[in-house]
Amino acid sequence: MANLPSGNPRLWALNQVSHRQTRQFDWPRNADGQYLRVTDIYGINTFSTKAMKEKLSKQTFQKLQATIKQGKKLDRSIADEVAHAIKEWAIENGATHFCHWFQPQTGLTAEKHDAFLSFDDENQPIERFSGSQLIQSEPDASSFPSGGRRSTFEARGYTAWDPSSPAYISEEPNGKTLCIPSVFISYHGEALDHKTPLLRSIEVLSKSALPVLKLFGNNSDRVVATLGPEQEYFLIDKAYYMLRPDLIATGRTLLGSPPPKGQQLEDHYFGSIKDRIQSFMQEAEFELYKLGIPIKTRHNEVAPSQFETAPIFEELNIASDHNQMVMEYLRAVAERHDLAMLLHEKPFAGVNGSGKHNNWSMQDSDGNNLLEPGKTPNQNLQFLVFLVATLKGVYKRSGLLRSAIAGSGNDHRLGANEAPPAIISAFLGEQLTGILDAIEAGTQAENGTEERIIGLSISHLPDVARDYTDRNRTSPFAFTGNKFEFRAVASSAAISPAMTTLNAAVAEALDDVYAQIKASLDKGVEFKKAVLEVVKKTIIETKAIRFEGNNYSEEWVEEAARRGLPNLRKSPEALAEMVKPESIEFFVNSGIFTKEEVEARYAVRVERYVKDVDIELQTLKELVKTYVLPAAYKQQQLLATSIQSLKDVLGGDAPEHQVDDLKSLSKLINKLHKLMDKFEELTTEHSGHEDLDKEAQKMGYKVLPAMLEIREVCDALELVISDDIWPLPKYREILFLS
Ligand code: ADP
Ligand code: MG
Repeated sequence: MANLPSGNPRLWALNQVSHRQTRQFDWPRNADGQYLRVTDIYGINTFSTKAMKEKLSKQTFQKLQATIKQGKKLDRSIADEVAHAIKEWAIENGATHFCHWFQPQTGLTAEKHDAFLSFDDENQPIERFSGSQLIQSEPDASSFPSGGRRSTFEARGYTAWDPSSPAYISEEPNGKTLCIPSVFISYHGEALDHKTPLLRSIEVLSKSALPVLKLFGNNSDRVVATLGPEQEYFLIDKAYYMLRPDLIATGRTLLGSPPPKGQQLEDHYFGSIKDRIQSFMQEAEFELYKLGIPIKTRHNEVAPSQFETAPIFEELNIASDHNQMVMEYLRAVAERHDLAMLLHEKPFAGVNGSGKHNNWSMQDSDGNNLLEPGKTPNQNLQFLVFLVATLKGVYKRSGLLRSAIAGSGNDHRLGANEAPPAIISAFLGEQLTGILDAIEAGTQAENGTEERIIGLSISHLPDVARDYTDRNRTSPFAFTGNKFEFRAVASSAAISPAMTTLNAAVAEALDDVYAQIKASLDKGVEFKKAVLEVVKKTIIETKAIRFEGNNYSEEWVEEAARRGLPNLRKSPEALAEMVKPESIEFFVNSGIFTKEEVEARYAVRVERYVKDVDIELQTLKELVKTYVLPAAYKQQQLLATSIQSLKDVLGGDAPEHQVDDLKSLSKLINKLHKLMDKFEELTTEHSGHEDLDKEAQKMGYKVLPAMLEIREVCDALELVISDDIWPLPKYREILFLS
């Protein structure tokens, strides 16, 4: 590492970056020196089916498999044997400690490590791991967000193993740890985490889907939701990161003048990946393969220094855990490459932000995709039922879906002409829209239409709908041939809140659709007719949620208002959806949350929003006072000295241009001072912790706009202050030089 020069630290960063070497990463080889295949290393750090088979008795293996497949709790009677097997496997692979790995409502994961070390009756050291240690652990719940639950419930919570997600070994530079994916609940069973409601919603969806399948003669015993999350992120050099207090504290730049070249040349998306980045991706993928995470795709994204990774889809619960691990490992491996990975939804103004595209579908117990149009009329009818039920769920609960993706970061991205707007709508594509329109228009008299549709048109759908041209990148919820893609999810957020809400919404709609079909059948209506009638009715009912046009346009905002679709622009209004009486009723009826749990979750989310913005505003104040203004004063002095010396040497009037420069600089400085005074007033009058809602409103509608005004002046200053004085790494450096 080069020494830190005493001058401008920004120049030190540039110097560092210009000397970076691409980190060599050697893919492991076998004894003959041949490279190992991905299939040789895939999942070696997970307690996989193969490892289980080796380590467990046949009977226990079968019981455990059944538990995993049915998403049930572990049978106590086999817990000790399973724990012993996992321990042996983990120790053979170098682990010394174990931890319950869980997802408190921070959006991150948490873990508390314990050594296997114990002592036997003769006081000799042994390695021990009991069934009860596997099943349950007690972290101190009082330091995690609980939304005030602690006053109502007991302070203590516990974590419990989720056997449906494989235990794995995490490798650190100086040791290894066995990680046990777990839920985190209070002693009375209230969910304190993201995983518990997700698991509940997966069960609820299955329960509601099964009777519908049964109508079509499908006797599946379980329906699982599937998920393939595409993850966007930024990578920047660590030297820049270290010199940006805003990135460190808030994850985004609060200041920074857009560079002359941003993303307008459209030369980054799918461009060739730089060696340094590719080397990072290869090492990250290597780590993820060992953990059994099926990473498939990597590419440059739209913004400079923006990238994407996507796995092959998996069962939702596992995909959700895996996405948390992907975020963690990308960050850790980036460090090794002297890169900082940014997961914030809008780290840089003026270029695209990041999201997560959640590709979602449902599968029966034979692995058939329920959103895959079929070949036979019967299959197609079934497809239509699941399709319209999904539309109905999204239509009816669109406000809640919006609330599920709310957060201070995503507010900057949604509707910023790059990401879907805050209005939730669904895109189906021309073909499918045509089919639904035809069903809607079809009358009983011309029965043939419907026959043709379910017989022919739908069977041809897959080829057409999967064609990339029939996509609408502006839609928040798009059908892409055999799945829906929820594109408005925040890049840094846990997947669970969005997916929990979607599952519950679709489950509710499936119940409703089923009840209607059943009622017709009971009245003696013929099966196909009964189903089609309900499909048609649902198509008409949910028409407002379907939008095929440009979601970025101003016309859509007006059109959506006419249709009565909610447009919840900022988090405070979006989050408020959660605690509306009808929302609480929905969550309680679906069995996802109790009233208290919803209220607690709401409190956690609002508090988080307020804290996020509070950290941003404190950081901005510091940046202005200790970076921007001092730089501006130096520039002022530079000009003043220059003017004075010119006058001394040449005599006569002060040099006109320099004086003008000095005046306009001083004007900007004065303006900044005035704005900062107002800002100080605004931000010190606290509405008080008691009224968190009011505080959130203030943050969203007063503080953030005020921060933007301040930013404008700072960015103008950046453009007139000598480059060797400006201390903060500039956009053109951060985004283009690595
Ligand atoms: P795109 O063209 O949007 O990149 P892909 O076909 O590559 O679409 O898929 C994107 C993601 O969707 C991948 O993670 C993929 O595994 C996932 N996916 C595909 N089929 C399903 C499904 N049935 N359920 C959930 N996710 C799926
Ligand atoms: Mg996609």
